[in-house]
Amino acid sequence: SAKREGRARFAIYDPAMDETLRRRRGLQVALRRDLQAGALHMVYQPQVDRDCTMTGVEALVRWDSDEFGPVSPAVFVPLAEECGMIEALGAFTLRRAFEDSLRWPDLKTAVNISALQLRDPGFPDRILAIAAETGVSPSGIELELTEGVLIDRGKGASTRLAALKDAGFSIAIDDFGTGYSSLSYLSRFPIGKIKIDRSFVVDMGRSQCADVLVSSILQLGRSLNMRVIAEGVETPDQWLRLAAVGCNEFQGYLASRPVSADVIDRIYAGERVEVVGQDARF
Ligand code: C2E
Ligand code: MG
Ligand code: MG
Ligand code: MG
Repeated sequence: SAKREGRARFAIYDPAMDETLRRRRGLQVALRRDLQAGALHMVYQPQVDRDCTMTGVEALVRWDSDEFGPVSPAVFVPLAEECGMIEALGAFTLRRAFEDSLRWPDLKTAVNISALQLRDPGFPDRILAIAAETGVSPSGIELELTEGVLIDRGKGASTRLAALKDAGFSIAIDDFGTGYSSLSYLSRFPIGKIKIDRSFVVDMGRSQCADVLVSSILQLGRSLNMRVIAEGVETPDQWLRLAAVGCNEFQGYLASRPVSADVIDRIYAGERVEVVGQDARF
């Protein structure tokens, strides 16, 4: 409050800030309600290999609010974290993704885990309980974590990651290259896969720096025995450049936008899918 900040200062009244806060509260209230009502859903984005064969899917949560329209998970996941809803949101997305993954036994299903989720000491038990209840084997599931999680001070994160790895889950580093400059964590954690961030892919062919970074990440991955996948691949040119430096897996609008589980079923069955609005190219 203004009082606590001392006499010499004035509280700055910013109506725009007020509006932002109000909107956030509104979003949180609506999110809580819609989450309880089961109104959120999952979409899946194919991960493909060199010849565009689907090898995995990434589960992405979607919220189409009656009040606010479609809200990005980049917005509402942090909001859920802020107001103590992440456990419920996480349980919902994991359960739904695990259930759906049973439809595609040959695919790896990747799920996103936020830093806050992993900070919870009960997380490994909770995710294992969901796997048991849904009948999913952890070996078919990949947990996507961002670099920030691994830099987290204390041994908590590394103990939990080791437990998850021991239980059979595989671990991927999401948005690789955007987080921290220290790479020492790569050898300290049981990481199986690196996901090159979209920002590098976008700049390929436009900045020499991006090209060099991407091929360095690939070399790093190779020498550490990790798989490397590029995210956010939108154009054939980007894909050709990636392939030229030895990147054999990618994810992005070029192959497919995130689509419903039903569309993944059809791609999985080998059907040629041409969804309206060019959602999936198989
Ligand atoms: P992410 O894990 O890095 O997911 C990739 C994001 O890039 C997705 O956005 C996806 O729709 C988008 N994308 C994929 N291909 C392309 C492309 O070719 N071009 C462009 N421009 N974008 C592409 P989305 O679905 O909005 O998700 C944003 C972030 O929200 C995710 O980033 C992830 O960190 C988080 N998130 C999504 N679902 C969940 C969830 O179920 N749980 C948690 N904890 N976080 C989630
Ligand atoms: Mg991800
Ligand atoms: Mg990513
Ligand atoms: Mg991202």
